[in-house]
Amino acid sequence: MDLRPDEISAIIKEQIKHYQDKIESKDVGTVITVGDGVSVIHGLDNAMLGELLLFPNDIYGMVMNLEEDSVGAVLLGSADAIKEGDEVKRTGRIIEVPVGDGLLGRVVNALGQPIDGQGEISYTNTRPIERVASGVMTRKSVDQPVQTGITSIDAIIPIGRGQRELIIGDRQTGKTAIAIDTILNQKGQNMYCIYVAIGQKNSTVAQIVEKLRQGGAMDYTVVVSAGASELAPIQYIAPYAGCAMGEEWLEQGKDVLIVYDDLSKHAVAYRTVSLLLKRPPGREAYPGDVFYLHSRLLERACRLNDENGGGSITALPIVETQAGDISAYIPTNIISITDGQIFLQLDLFNSGFRPAIDTGLSVSRVGSSAQIKAMKQVSSSLKLDLAQYEEMLSFAQFGSDLEASTKATLDHGEKVKEVLKQAQYSPRSVGEQVISLFALKYGFTKTIPVNKVSAFVKELYEEVELNHPEVLDEINDKKELSDDLISRLKEICKAFVEKFLKVNKDD
Ligand code: ATP
Ligand code: MG
Repeated sequence: MDLRPDEISAIIKEQIKHYQDKIESKDVGTVITVGDGVSVIHGLDNAMLGELLLFPNDIYGMVMNLEEDSVGAVLLGSADAIKEGDEVKRTGRIIEVPVGDGLLGRVVNALGQPIDGQGEISYTNTRPIERVASGVMTRKSVDQPVQTGITSIDAIIPIGRGQRELIIGDRQTGKTAIAIDTILNQKGQNMYCIYVAIGQKNSTVAQIVEKLRQGGAMDYTVVVSAGASELAPIQYIAPYAGCAMGEEWLEQGKDVLIVYDDLSKHAVAYRTVSLLLKRPPGREAYPGDVFYLHSRLLERACRLNDENGGGSITALPIVETQAGDISAYIPTNIISITDGQIFLQLDLFNSGFRPAIDTGLSVSRVGSSAQIKAMKQVSSSLKLDLAQYEEMLSFAQFGSDLEASTKATLDHGEKVKEVLKQAQYSPRSVGEQVISLFALKYGFTKTIPVNKVSAFVKELYEEVELNHPEVLDEINDKKELSDDLISRLKEICKAFVEKFLKVNKDD
């Protein structure tokens, strides 16, 4: 850093003047440079990393760099009014955000201040945005499902409470849609939801809030938004702020779902901050600690054991890829920190297979232990069915004469895909998912034309709901399909296939 001589002499004079009151110089510093949202400050010998500093005009800053005789800080407000020589005070605190039930239904910024025009937030408690993650001994393994209401996920890549599951894909492939559908489906499931929007357009966030409100999801949701126009440091702290809000509920033994949309933009914000602070750039110009940036965030998702209240934080980070490249720097980092990923493919999306989940590249490493038994019973072969279908499909392009078994595999695969197609904002209950996958598994879709399959499974479910509700009750209570229930369901399916074919005979 280059200091001009007159500045240095001014600082030295200042130092001599305050030589007596040492304490002062440790807790009060002077601005050496300010600009681009960062400031270098002389003094503040005792400043801590991440500490909040108070600049004139009530502008706050956060300590990011501790050097031998200066401190680098990012500004959390407009730097216009701050000039060289201004006084900066330590606050002794790190950034805190309001927490608690008063946040439900609200839209707040990264500092927890309301931005929805609905007045002050009532809170009695605040929490620092950074915290060391819960230790190994306080945790237990994942054993309860998060029902997303999306069949592809609940059946093939199930998510458990306390898990970290990455949603990854190119732009406009339905990443946000999956997260929002999951939040909408948490109604009545005792889940507190937090949606953290990082670097997004305010209009996009407003639409999402509107959708959540319409679906009644704002009753149990808080939206933290650090928009694209916000300063990089604000975008940088947003996910930690959201996580701190979740930890309050976690400690009350509640289940929390938190979506970080998206961490690629978060990494870019952090890169901006780091470069402005003149930290050495590394791969793709990201600073060397960019892995730690996300690992310390995602490690805070956990499932606590019963002695510690039994709460959980499930994290759904989102990452945007360029041209499907999941081996780029930030995607690989985050893949290695999470317990699995839901990979969305642009080709699938464009071909009309939505949600565009690539079942071959998607995994959930821990979620299957949280899946209910009934779901396991009907979904175990799906991934294989789809893989075989894809393989046969590439074969089938070359020959016109196909063996009967190949034809059957192709036909079945196509029908599986039909059942997995699902529109946005149309979550399916566990019962509905189990019934439709049951019909697939036991071959009741064989005689149904491909273009009728989705109507068939939908109507089959309605039939069960209307005329055989005891079946659904049993699935919900016992959570498994007994032999007796399987044979009863088979009867129902068989009768319904006949009825369905008769009604749809003409077209
Ligand atoms: P971005 O990269 O811009 O954040 P994204 O990957 O988050 O995009 P979305 O905004 O969720 O993608 O979805 C992109 C578009 O696809 C939206 O218009 C959305 O309505 C539509 N879409 C998403 N999922 C589905 C679905 N299952 N069925 C039909 N349309 C969908
Ligand atoms: Mg999105």
